[in-house]
Amino acid sequence: MTGRKATKFPLPLSSVMDKSSKRKATENKNVARSAQSQRGEVVKASHVSRGAPELISRSAPKAARKLALNSAAAVAVKVSTQAASESGMLVSSAVRRAMVDRLAMQGIRDPQVLAAMEASPRHLFLDEGLASQAYIDASLPIGYQQTISQPYIVARMIEILRDNRKKGELNRVLEIGTGCGYQALVLSMVSRDVYSIERIKGLHELAKNRLRPLRVPNIRLHFGDGMLGLPQVAPFDGIILAAAGMDVPHTLLEQLAVGGRLVAPVGGEKQSLQLIERISATKWSKAVLEECHFVPLLSGTV
Ligand code: SAH
Repeated sequence: MTGRKATKFPLPLSSVMDKSSKRKATENKNVARSAQSQRGEVVKASHVSRGAPELISRSAPKAARKLALNSAAAVAVKVSTQAASESGMLVSSAVRRAMVDRLAMQGIRDPQVLAAMEASPRHLFLDEGLASQAYIDASLPIGYQQTISQPYIVARMIEILRDNRKKGELNRVLEIGTGCGYQALVLSMVSRDVYSIERIKGLHELAKNRLRPLRVPNIRLHFGDGMLGLPQVAPFDGIILAAAGMDVPHTLLEQLAVGGRLVAPVGGEKQSLQLIERISATKWSKAVLEECHFVPLLSGTV
């Protein structure tokens, strides 16, 4: 958090477990500061543990337990476990494990994705009043008439992205619609670098505040219109849209690497998840996968 020194790992609890009043004050301050444009900030590169996440649950699928998620996962697991035990809230790893079991029953198969979902403290991305509902499979309000995506759809989109020609390897990934930053965190555990764009300044600031204590080294948050993508960083192995447009902006298709995948909700009242794969410099394939419901993709910034 702003003004705190937390340069050593493991992090002191105080850097994660702010009193609500303090957190709100910091957020308000940051929102007030939002007139200054801050593009392309690294959330915070810092000291991270290099080992595999030793806290992945024992009852998780065997393959998932064997995984060495990247260091961000290790940090998230440790931080969330500290947070859970300190707050006494119903946010224990058992609750998250139950959520992951449900995801597996709903058809999520990719062990890396299941492990990343298990390691991601979703409750830390919600206001305290909603934190107890963090592990039910629902989208929940995050302010500005926007929502944190439902765990199932987060897992599903990332699973589709990883089911690629490079056998799941994702170097550079772009997310359109950071919201509170939860999906960016999950993505960071299965990708080398995650870039995420948000068009609402207050949410961009919120995501920074939510992610900062987790000290994830490989997420870069941008404030801007995601429909324009990030041409300066492209091409991307994967692009995820967390908001639904009537079609997928061509600019984004152009920013996909050949062999890369884009997953996006498309439609208005009735929406479906679409998978677009870049076959060659001039060819893309499209598959319509399943029904979904997302907030609208809008142009410009506010
Ligand atoms: N990824 C989030 C979901 C946030 S909801 C999660 O982890 O749960 C979708 C977000 O997309 C909203 O915050 C909305 O403001 C944002 N959005 C809509 N159109 C956008 C655009 N053109 N560029 C960037 N963000 C956009």
